[in-house]
Amino acid sequence: MRAKRSKKYRKLMHQYELAFGFREPYQVLVDSNLLRAVHSFKMDLIPALERTLQGQVKPLLTKCSLASIMAGQPTNPRTNNPIRPDFLPPPTTLPLRHCSHNEDSTPIDETSCLLSLLSPLSDVKRNKEHYILATADPPAPKSNSATQQEIGKKRKRDADDGLQALKRAQALRRGARSIPGVPIVYVKRSVMILEPMSAPSEGIREGVEEDKLRTGLTDQSVQKSGGPDGGEKKKKREPKKAKGPNPLSVKKPKKRVEQKATAERERPRDEAEKRDSEKAAEDGEAAPKPKRRRRHHKGAKQGDSGGDETEAIATAPIEATDQ
Ligand SMILES: [Zn+2]
Repeated sequence: MRAKRSKKYRKLMHQYELAFGFREPYQVLVDSNLLRAVHSFKMDLIPALERTLQGQVKPLLTKCSLASIMAGQPTNPRTNNPIRPDFLPPPTTLPLRHCSHNEDSTPIDETSCLLSLLSPLSDVKRNKEHYILATADPPAPKSNSATQQEIGKKRKRDADDGLQALKRAQALRRGARSIPGVPIVYVKRSVMILEPMSAPSEGIREGVEEDKLRTGLTDQSVQKSGGPDGGEKKKKREPKKAKGPNPLSVKKPKKRVEQKATAERERPRDEAEKRDSEKAAEDGEAAPKPKRRRRHHKGAKQGDSGGDETEAIATAPIEATDQ
């Protein structure tokens, strides 16, 4: 794969990770047309998917896809079972995704099955399970030279079937694009392609980025001295130091802070954040809110935890010297 394209795909998958929570190994719902295309272009399913998605993959075949593949297969006269086609990889490579759409779990139409897995909820279109769809157009109808020998009726029927299959494949992709957060891989000629984000996906992604920008700005105003990430680790250590020296003088103001904090939780978020920065300004040290709250919870639950901890600290060195 060209370097430029792989970079583009890596970036795209990174966006799916940030905006929709995709994680490796990526779960890829593979449809029957993709398997036919991969086989006819002599591609290796997993390496091809991993090159395209720029990460580890876990391909899955739904029970309904398998049923649709087997339905078109001739039966083995000895076992009376349909013969496994060459293009169908073994279950070790492509495990079955069990799906049950009705009471007796009869397989349903492949397109409906895949769309129902991509968006299981009836009220909201959401790719809850973070599936990636890997599909392809159905194989082109057999060449003219082959059909010329057959009777006209049969040729027409094949062409109609081909058209129907193409329509189904297009409906599947259209349906998948309408669900936000569904990466779509498809094989075009002999190339595996990762589609750009659909408009619904892009809409969600932009919303997520805007939120991040907004919270990022407010975080900075609150944690001026703390720092966004480095402060987090410091916070955990600082409370212990503060507890030791003067628990009595610290406790009373802490209660007030807690009351404020609980009241704030009920208020709208923006207001709470505003108050927070004000409070920080009053205190002089712009310590972030989570730290205070956590510190208090601990104290409230364990009673005089401050005292306990100082005891623990006091005994610790003795134990150390004993050993
Ligand atoms: Zn199904």
